[in-house]
Amino acid sequence: MQENNNQQDDKKIKEVKPDEVIEIQEKEQTPKQKKFFALYLSNIVAVPGISLTCEINNDIEVQGMKEAFNRGEQIVAVASKIQADEIKIENLYDIGCLCAIKRVINQGDGIKLMVVGDGRIKIKKVTNDKTFYVEGDLIEEQNEFSQRSFELMENIKSVLLKLANERILPPSLRANLFDSELNPSEFADSLIHLLSKDDVSVQSKLFVELDVEKRLNEIYRIAQDFVQRIELRREIEEKVNANIQKSQKEMYLREQLHVINDELYGEVDENEEFIEKVKRLGMPKESEEKVLKEIKRMGKLPFGSPELGYIRNFVETVLELPWTTKTEDNIDIEKAKQVLNDEHYALEKVKQRILETLAVIKLTKQVNAQIICLAGPPGVGKTSIAKSIANAMGRKYVQVSLGGVNDESVIRGHRRTYVGAMCGRILAGMKQAGTINPVFLLDEIDKMTSDSRGDPASALLEVLDPAQNDHFKDNFLEIPYDLSQVMFILTANDINNIPYALRDRMEIINLRSYTEYEKMEIAKKYLLPKQEKLAGVPEGTVKLSDELLRRIIAEYTFEGGVRSLERKIATICRKYATFMVTGEKFRDICEENLDDYLGKERNRELDIYKAGNVGEIVGLSVTGGITGGVLLIEATLVPGKPAIALTGQPGKMMKESVEQVYTLVKSRAKEWGIDKKCLKKNAIHVHIPQVPNGVEGPSAGIAMTTAVVSALTNIPTTPLTAMTGEISIRGRVLPIGGLRDKLIAADRAGIKLCIIPKDNEIDLWELPQEVKDRLEIKAVSTIDEVLEYALQQKLSPKESKDDDDEDEDDED
Ligand code: ADP
Repeated sequence: MQENNNQQDDKKIKEVKPDEVIEIQEKEQTPKQKKFFALYLSNIVAVPGISLTCEINNDIEVQGMKEAFNRGEQIVAVASKIQADEIKIENLYDIGCLCAIKRVINQGDGIKLMVVGDGRIKIKKVTNDKTFYVEGDLIEEQNEFSQRSFELMENIKSVLLKLANERILPPSLRANLFDSELNPSEFADSLIHLLSKDDVSVQSKLFVELDVEKRLNEIYRIAQDFVQRIELRREIEEKVNANIQKSQKEMYLREQLHVINDELYGEVDENEEFIEKVKRLGMPKESEEKVLKEIKRMGKLPFGSPELGYIRNFVETVLELPWTTKTEDNIDIEKAKQVLNDEHYALEKVKQRILETLAVIKLTKQVNAQIICLAGPPGVGKTSIAKSIANAMGRKYVQVSLGGVNDESVIRGHRRTYVGAMCGRILAGMKQAGTINPVFLLDEIDKMTSDSRGDPASALLEVLDPAQNDHFKDNFLEIPYDLSQVMFILTANDINNIPYALRDRMEIINLRSYTEYEKMEIAKKYLLPKQEKLAGVPEGTVKLSDELLRRIIAEYTFEGGVRSLERKIATICRKYATFMVTGEKFRDICEENLDDYLGKERNRELDIYKAGNVGEIVGLSVTGGITGGVLLIEATLVPGKPAIALTGQPGKMMKESVEQVYTLVKSRAKEWGIDKKCLKKNAIHVHIPQVPNGVEGPSAGIAMTTAVVSALTNIPTTPLTAMTGEISIRGRVLPIGGLRDKLIAADRAGIKLCIIPKDNEIDLWELPQEVKDRLEIKAVSTIDEVLEYALQQKLSPKESKDDDDEDEDDED
C-alpha cells in the first residue's frame, strides 16, 4: 500500500514542470496524524491563521514537502532559537506551527511553497536523517480568555488605529482591527508579522508564548513602540518638507526681486564697481589679485547663498581699510614741546622722554623701534599724553581698550565662516583712523588675560614687532596688512601684570600720582576751563578758591589721578549751566553749600585715622611700584589658645611677616610691659580690610607690630599716624620700596605723622616739597622708636613682683 502510494506520488512529482503551479486538491487530512514532515524556516516564523510563502532548496526538505503535498498531509514549520541556515536539532523550539501546504511551485534547484498556519504543535521528537520530520501533539487552542486579554486587545486596537490612515497597515490587518470575530489569541497572532517585521527571534518568542495574556501584553508594548517610531518619522518628514518648501519659496522670491530691481533700475553690476574701487586702493599686487579673485567668485555664487555674504563682508572691509592714505609727519620738537606743555601741567620727566622719542623718530623714521608704555594709576594723564603726541606729530589718533580681553580673536579677528565674523580690534582701529600711520593707543594692556581661547598677548606681540607687523594677518582679512607705520603707545596701571615678553619690548614711562598741590594746579589751569567750556558757561564763571578745591580733593575724591576730581568739577559746571538756563538765582559755590553741589558722599576714612583707637594703626601700600595707598591695620585679642592669625586676603609674605611680629612681641613682652598672662590666654587676630589687589610684601611689619602691641597693652595709638617698614624678629626696621608714592598717599589721606625706615631716608629727595612741608616724617631704625612715636603712652617694663607671679603661673 505504502509502495503504491509512493509510486503514485512519484508519478505526480514527475508531472510537475518547472514554474508550474499545482493547486492542492483538498484531501481529507489525518486528524490523528502524529508524525509530520518538517519545514525549517530561518527568516520568518509560521503563525496560525497567516499564510506565507517560502523557498526551499534543501533536497531532503524538498522531497518531504512534495511528499506531504501529494499526500495532502499537513506539515510542521519549525524555527531555531539561534539564527542559522543549517538545521540543528538541539536549537529548535519545541513548539512548531502546524501548516497546510496551499501551493508548490517548482523552480530551479528547489521549490517555492505557500503554506497557511493552522495551530501549534508540541514537538516531542525530531528526526533529520533521510527525511526531516517531527513527532508531536496538537496543542489545544484556548477558547476561554481573561477579561484582561480582551482589554489588552482593545488597547492594541486603539494604539494601531492611530495609523488607520497610514499605508503601513496592510488592508487585511486593517480589517482585523475591526473584526470582532477574532479571539484574543488569533488577534495576537495576526499581528506577529507586522509588529516584528524582520526580527525572527521576536516573532518566535511571541509564537511560542502559550499564555495569551502574556503574548498580548508583549504585543501591546511592541505596538506602542511601533506607533511612536512611525509618528516620529512622519513628524520629521513633515518638518523636512516644510523647510524645503520654505527655502524654495525664498529662492523664488529673491529671484523675482532681482528681476524687479533690474527692470526698475537697470542692471547695476555691483561686482564691477567693487573691482574698480579695489583697483584704486593701491594695495600690494598680490593682495589685490586675491581680492579681485574673490569678487569674481561672487559673480558665480547663487543669489542669497551664505558664501556670497561672507565674501561681500570681506570685500567691504578691504574697501574700508586705509591702504595708502597717510598723514605727513611734521615733527618739530619746539612745537611738540609747546603742545605737550599747553595740554599738561607738570609731568616734566614724561614730557622730556616723549620729546626724546620724537627726536629719534624724526632722525630714524622708525616709529616702533621702541614702544612706549605709559604706566601709572588711573587719571594721571596717560591717554591725554598719547593724544598730545598725535597732535604734536600731526597724526590721526585712535584708541582701543584691551581691558578684560581674554580671547585672541578680539585682536586678530574671527575666520570669515564664523557666524557674525568680523576683523579684530587692531584692524577696526585702522578703519577708524583712515590712515596707515596713526598714533594707536592700546589701553590697559595689563588687564588682558589668557585662557583656552588663546593668548591675546602673543597676538599683540605680533602687532608690535617691527619684524612681523608689516604683514600682520587678521583671521578675517586673511591677506597681510602693513602696520609698520603705525605708532603704537600702550598704557598700563600695573606693569607687573604685563606678560614678560611684551614688557621686554617696551620703554616704560612712569606717570606718578599727583600731590594735592599738583591736583589743585591741574584743576585750576586745565580741568575747570575745560569743563566750563563743555558745560557752555563763560570761562571764569565758576570760582573755586584754593580752600574749596582742597576740600573737594580731600573729602570728595580719593585717587592718585584727577579723574574723579574732573567729574566733580564737571558736576559743578553743569549746576552753573542750569542756573543760567533756568534764570534761577545764582548761588556761588562755597564751603557751606559744597554738599548741595556734590552730595554727601565724603571720604569718611579720615575719621578713623583721626581716632587713634587701641589696636588700630595706618599702614602704607604701593601697587605696581607706583600707585600708593593707605591701609587700616587692626589687631584684637580673642580668649583662647595663644596664636596669631592674619585675615583680609593677605599674600604669603604678609602671612610670614605676621609670624615674625608674633615672635618679636613674645620675646620683648616683658620689656614692653605686656602681661604674659594676657599673651598666654589670648589669640591675636590681625586684620587688614580691603587689601588692594597686587599688594603683597613685608612692608606692613612695623604697622602690624604697633597694632598688636597696642592691643596687648591697651594703649591707644597716636591719631593721624601712618607707617611703613619691614620688621626683623629682633626688632630692626628694614627698608621698603615705593616710599614716594606711599607718602603721597598718606598726605592725600590726611595723615600728619609718617614713620619710615632710616635706610629709606635717602629716597625722600623724590618727595614733592609741599608734601614734605605738610607731613612730619620720622626715620627710625628700631621698633622701640616706632612704638615711642606711634603709641600715646610710653611703654615701661613690668615690675619684678609681677614677674614672680608670672613665673608662678608658668609653673602652674
Ligand atoms: P589716564 O589715561 O591716565 O587714566 P586721562 O588721560 O584720561 O588719564 O586723564 C584724565 C583727565 O585728567 C583728562 O581730562 C586729562 O586731560 C586730565 N589730566 C591728567 N593729567 C593732567 C595734567 N598733568 N595736566 C592737565 N590735565 C591732566
